[in-house]
Amino acid sequence: MSVGRRPLVAGNWKMHKTAVEARDFCVALAGLVDSGAPVDVAVCPPFTALQASSDALAGTEVAVYAQNVHEADAGAHTGEVSAAMLIDAGADGALVGHSERRAAGDTDAQVAARVRAGIDAGLLVVMCCGESIDTRRAGETEEWVTRQVREGLAQATAADIDRLVIAYEPIWAIGTGETATPDQAQEACAIVRAVASEVVDGQRLRVLYGGSVNPGNAAELMACPDVDGALVGGASLDPESFAAIVAAAA
Ligand code: PEP
Repeated sequence: MSVGRRPLVAGNWKMHKTAVEARDFCVALAGLVDSGAPVDVAVCPPFTALQASSDALAGTEVAVYAQNVHEADAGAHTGEVSAAMLIDAGADGALVGHSERRAAGDTDAQVAARVRAGIDAGLLVVMCCGESIDTRRAGETEEWVTRQVREGLAQATAADIDRLVIAYEPIWAIGTGETATPDQAQEACAIVRAVASEVVDGQRLRVLYGGSVNPGNAAELMACPDVDGALVGGASLDPESFAAIVAAAA
């Protein structure tokens, strides 16, 4: 991890926690993380728990990100939520292009439009990318990740650097308990950084690793020179476990 790039640890709760459970988690987390530590921390609750999380974290350094954002400002998009609505609910940022969203139909073109819409609205956008096990076994990881980053940043500009983060999350490591080795994480995050450098200042870009990060493996993954933090799923659902990963980043 570079000293120039402040690490970020974000917890993706996926479809877990009601508003009351989110509030309880946030109160507990606020008591566990060291507010002076040189690390950015965020939780990514479901839409329905954004406001409760934001309220519970008011006055702390912990940010709240949504798990997706729609590209349109408003309109006939049943079930979708705009960037302005997320901000209205207290969100500071949003994930875009998580593999579970892509599996549900989100396309590269939508990812690009959502990166643009989120940043334009003032959100910090964490754009996710990562290959399947078949792609890795076929030796096509670099090609896959390169395409996802290029297409996801198709509407981004150099001026977006402070509101853009990219998370490399190999699909085979998400929720499986199988983590990329530090060498695999480093290699892929370096590719992400190199490709993103076609658009933004790569030396300032924060690139996260995600995929079964836990308190036991977080430190060695985040010690990789091109890994600037972690996007954490399962291990972010418990405040002690998530706080331990934050401490490892700090
Ligand atoms: C994720 O959902 O982004 C993720 C990385 O999940 P997990 O940590 O559970 O693999």
